[in-house]
Amino acid sequence: MEAPQHSAQDRDYKLMKKAVDEAYRAVKTGEGAPFGAVVVRGGAVVASCHNVMLKNTDPSAHAEVTAIRQACKRLGKLDLSDCEIYASCEPCPMCIALIRSTKIKKVVFGAKAEAAVAAGYDASIPDAFVEYYRKSGMEIRQVDGEAARIAERVFEKAWEIPDEAMQRSRTGGDGWFEKAKGMVKCSGFCGLWK
Ligand SMILES: [Zn+2]
Repeated sequence: MEAPQHSAQDRDYKLMKKAVDEAYRAVKTGEGAPFGAVVVRGGAVVASCHNVMLKNTDPSAHAEVTAIRQACKRLGKLDLSDCEIYASCEPCPMCIALIRSTKIKKVVFGAKAEAAVAAGYDASIPDAFVEYYRKSGMEIRQVDGEAARIAERVFEKAWEIPDEAMQRSRTGGDGWFEKAKGMVKCSGFCGLWK
C-alpha cells in the first residue's frame, strides 16, 4: 500500500535533485543566480535549465522561463498541458504567469521563497499572487522531505563554491557576484531574482 507513495516521492526527489544541480551549475558557470528548473512530460525530462540572467544580460532569463522556452522548442508547441515543472525554489510572479500561459498544470518547488529571504535576498511574493496561485487551478506544492532540504541548502552553499570559474568572475572587476547582488537589491516587482 505504501509502494506508490514511495515511488512518487522517489520521482519527486530525482527531479528536484536535477533542478537543484542546475541551480549550482548556474553559479559554477557564472551564468546566473542559483535557481534551476526541469520540465517533465510523462516519465521523460524535456528540458533542464538554470538561470542565465548574467550570461544573457537578460532579467527575464529565470530558470523556469529558460526551461519552458526550451521545452516549447523541443516539443514544437506552446501548449504544455501534458507537462509538469519542477523548480528549485518557489516560482516568482513572472514565472507563474508564464507557467499558467503554457497551461502546465502541476508545479513542484523545492525551497520556499522565505528560504531565499532568510539567505538575505530581498524577495517577496505579494499576497495578491498567492491568491492568484489558488485561483489559477494549477496544482502548486512544495516537495516533501529531503528533496526540500537539498533545495533550501542551495542558498547556503551556492555562494561558497570555491571553484576557479567563480574566482575568475569575482576578480573580473564587474564580476557576476557583485552584479548578482546588485540585481537582488534592484528587483522590485519580481522579488526573487531567479
Ligand atoms: Zn521567476
